Amino acid sequence: MPSHHPFSTRYLSATDVIDMVQRKGVEACLRGIADYIQADFLRWGAFDKSARVASHSRDGVIELMPIADDQTYAFKYVNGHPKNTRWGLPTVMAFGVLADVATGAPLLLSELTLTTALRTAAMSAVAARALARPGSRTMALIGNGAQSEFQALAFHHLLGITALRLFDTDPTATAKLQANLQGTGLRTVACNSTAEAVRGADVVTTVTADKTNATILTPGMLAPGMHINAVGGDCPGKTELHADVLRQAQVFVEYAPQTRIEGDIQQLPADFGVTELWEVLAGQHTGRASDAAITVFDSVGFALEDFSALRFLRDTAAELGMGQPIELIPQLSDPKNLFGLLRTHNPLLRAVA
Ligand code: NAD
Repeated sequence: MPSHHPFSTRYLSATDVIDMVQRKGVEACLRGIADYIQADFLRWGAFDKSARVASHSRDGVIELMPIADDQTYAFKYVNGHPKNTRWGLPTVMAFGVLADVATGAPLLLSELTLTTALRTAAMSAVAARALARPGSRTMALIGNGAQSEFQALAFHHLLGITALRLFDTDPTATAKLQANLQGTGLRTVACNSTAEAVRGADVVTTVTADKTNATILTPGMLAPGMHINAVGGDCPGKTELHADVLRQAQVFVEYAPQTRIEGDIQQLPADFGVTELWEVLAGQHTGRASDAAITVFDSVGFALEDFSALRFLRDTAAELGMGQPIELIPQLSDPKNLFGLLRTHNPLLRAVA
């Protein structure tokens, strides 16, 4: 419950979050969000969970992602429009709210576009820490758009990846990624195809955007012991892995009821065996069965990761003294007299009257 009434909603703009990440550093933010995600996944049973609500249209999707524990409620608004980059807009844009369960008061309104890239990468690294072969050093990164630098840096800092083999159908995206990773300690090689990029890779990350049942990764490209971090297949009719890749692997998911609709496993029967990642993190289920096993993290993005990221933003904003109070909810001296606001406080309305 807010400690006092009236309360104010804190606002973190895109500029605030850019400033926050620059002040703390990308690595610290990735590590911080990963820690918050890990802690929240270990409290899995404490959350009121549901698959996100998606509104599909010809070129994309708009989604609402709610979740709550007994104290805090969170939601994210996020879209996915792969053609957006043609019009100079990002494929993925997002914002979100943290609210007080006891009163329903919205306490934080924040940008989540940059934050989604950080939390998706942090989530991928949390999964890979639990599933990839120890000693993994080389990652193929297929899809070199907005999410890709974040994925690269999360795997570098949290998993120890030192070399990247890159492919994108758009070579300018790969060149942008290589330029952005200069000075990070990651060695990068631009490849001419996915097949070339995955050769010799310990980890394969697919993070492409196309509203189609793509087969970026086919069974012939697999090698024993690979970990596949499949991030871009996250909507009905939008997948990245050939179904036989999934059949040959151990498949791990965030929240099965949502992933069966949206993930790469949408291609398989509803009873195809998958493991929810929280079970592995909590030690209730084994992860990788052997050094030779192929593991897949069929990532779609679950509301709990945004809950964790919003908590990280709230706590870091408090630590750094960032953000502005905004008047999102009217302040009432008599909470039953909402109409009274129109009689006393609105000069514009009086002028019109
Ligand atoms: P983006 O549009 O900025 O980049 C996508 C890149 O994929 C582009 O450079 C494009 O040229 C490339 N691409 C498309 N088809 C390809 C193919 N067949 N082979 C190789 N490259 C190909 O998008 P983004 O913001 O980087 O997002 C990437 C994907 O990740 C999207 O599909 C998005 O929906 C998804 N996503 C998932 C999560 C999650 O939690 N799982 C979170 C955020 C984004």
